[in-house]
Amino acid sequence: MDQKIDPAEYQKRLDKLTSMFSDMVVHADELSQQRCPYKNRHDECTAKFGCRNQRKPRTPGGLKLCGGDDKLDYRNAWETEPEFYQKTDQDKG
Ligand code: SF4
Repeated sequence: MDQKIDPAEYQKRLDKLTSMFSDMVVHADELSQQRCPYKNRHDECTAKFGCRNQRKPRTPGGLKLCGGDDKLDYRNAWETEPEFYQKTDQDKG
């Protein structure tokens, strides 16, 4: 195969791909402001710190459930005091 690449066509396709990825990044950025990055797809909390939205896990020793409704700014719920995390961690199960 000896196909030549048309530079104009190549640039056009590159621009289209760039535009598509830009849209995806903007959408992901918007979603990340609504859904806590520590919440997994099973609505469980993967954070290694205390958060007042954490609820008892489904199974003993499992990940705590996230009680956040994704409508508020979840960052205010995060605890920055390690003692609080230890207390909430003891609440597991
Ligand atoms: S409990 Fe808090 S830190 Fe964990 S996923 Fe929910 S909002 Fe995020």
